[in-house]
Amino acid sequence: MARVAHDVVVVGAGPNGLAAAVVLARAGLSTLVVEAGDTPGGGCRSGPLTLPGFVHDYCSAVHPLGAASPLFRELELTRHGLAWIDPPAPLAHVLADGSAVMLERRVNVTAAQFAGDALAYRDLLGPLVDRFDDLLPLLLRPLWAAREHPLLLARFGVHALRPMRALAERRFAHEPARALLAGIAAHAMVPLEAFGTTAFALVLAMAGHAVGWPLARGGSQAITDALVACLRAHGGALELGRRVAHLSELPPAHAYVLDLTPRQLLAVAGDRLPERYRRRLRGFRYGPGVFKIDWALRAPIAWRDPNCARAGTVHLSGTLADVAAATTAVHAGRLARPPFVLLAQPSLFDDTRAPAGRHVAWAYCHVPHASPVDAAAAIEAHVERFAPGFTATILARASRNAVEMERYDANYVGGDINGGLADLRQLLVRPAPRLDPYSTPAPDIFVCSSSTPPGGGVHGMCGYWCARSVLARVFA
Ligand SMILES: Cc1cc2nc3c(=O)[nH]c(=O)nc-3n(C[C@H](O)[C@H](O)[C@H](O)COP(=O)(O)OP(=O)(O)OC[C@H]3O[C@@H](n4cnc5c(N)ncnc54)[C@H](O)[C@@H]3O)c2cc1C
Repeated sequence: MARVAHDVVVVGAGPNGLAAAVVLARAGLSTLVVEAGDTPGGGCRSGPLTLPGFVHDYCSAVHPLGAASPLFRELELTRHGLAWIDPPAPLAHVLADGSAVMLERRVNVTAAQFAGDALAYRDLLGPLVDRFDDLLPLLLRPLWAAREHPLLLARFGVHALRPMRALAERRFAHEPARALLAGIAAHAMVPLEAFGTTAFALVLAMAGHAVGWPLARGGSQAITDALVACLRAHGGALELGRRVAHLSELPPAHAYVLDLTPRQLLAVAGDRLPERYRRRLRGFRYGPGVFKIDWALRAPIAWRDPNCARAGTVHLSGTLADVAAATTAVHAGRLARPPFVLLAQPSLFDDTRAPAGRHVAWAYCHVPHASPVDAAAAIEAHVERFAPGFTATILARASRNAVEMERYDANYVGGDINGGLADLRQLLVRPAPRLDPYSTPAPDIFVCSSSTPPGGGVHGMCGYWCARSVLARVFA
């Protein structure tokens, strides 16, 4: 091989870029990560946003897939300073009357809330949760590469491929079970009538029962810091504050691994890629955006239903029809009124996040792609409805609209936090149809962002499979 400065250069220190870099450095390759931001982590960073002493998660806050990630487990991130906090209940879903339906840690306890639907819930989730350790690794990889446990995968697929709305209406007779799963499915940011939306609900609900929806003690940055510590332990290097406009700016290397979405891949490396592949990348579709808000609070949120205080995450969303209407509106380019709000309350379970007696809360709602709208007032009014007095406890707030979200991290194109629309087609095939989706037609250029399988979320598995591809294709 020719003399190079590094075996591999990774562009982007998000969870996937860092995961890829760790796996490559661990394999003995000299690995450099180049990151535009002043701190590493991409969508997995924390720090001050409001007042001194309050620690906010800039993007990700709740980590079912992080806790379950086969890679993060293998890397023993907890030995590098990461501590998971598992709130007593993963999720509270608030209905229009203010009462909460709970996703509890145990399937049976969750099912017990559902009166006539208890059996149907247990039948749907129970067998999948029992086989979670076999099933999840199959789902966190390109699906067509999953060869083990075909019957288990088929059992999952029979439900997962269906539209959430149809499955919920057929399987459950009553609103609570329908609404709970609809709210979880809405993480897909795709209308609930679309095929494949049930997959999101099942994966996240299963994870809630198997590992919880944990928070990282001290903030999500702890996950990133643990990955960086791992990287350094294997001799990898990290350069911050360097935005890469073109591949030619980088030192010579045998392979370039890009933690970028298709639009930036085209900008940074398009002239190294054939027109056919470029056309496919141009056809990649981005999804709706988010409006994100963080609060420093004088007191914990006083929910009308005290059960909400047991949950790390609260969905403010109403019935199945309400959630479906919100996802459809946003997908069609309209604001949902009221918005579907996803809220996390980490300081209830982590006293490192705010001064004594004070609290932080994190929330976002879905908005149309690239919408500049300020949804702060709509979100706060919605929280106030279910927690009277909430707005009076706000000491300070900080927010980012969908446009600012992209300015913060270029991977969030139009505010899309999933690295591209997560409809069934792009869940299966991303970023372009290729047997090895991490490779490109250029033998030294690879993609590892959440625009590759298995998609969005902090789990590092896009990075892991990309690194495996680099090892097999360039360094075998
Ligand atoms: C508001 C919000 C809430 C979220 N909540 C959750 C959650 O609770 N749980 C969860 O699991 N996931 C959540 N996510 C999603 C999660 O953050 C992403 O799926 C994840 O971070 C994707 O990782 P990645 O490595 O693919 O990309 P990113 O994390 O986006 O990292 C990409 C990195 O590349 C850098 N970069 C981009 N372009 C260049 C360039 N040209 N040169 C150099 N560097 C560059 C960026 O600065 C960034 O650091 C949330 C995201 C947002 C925005």
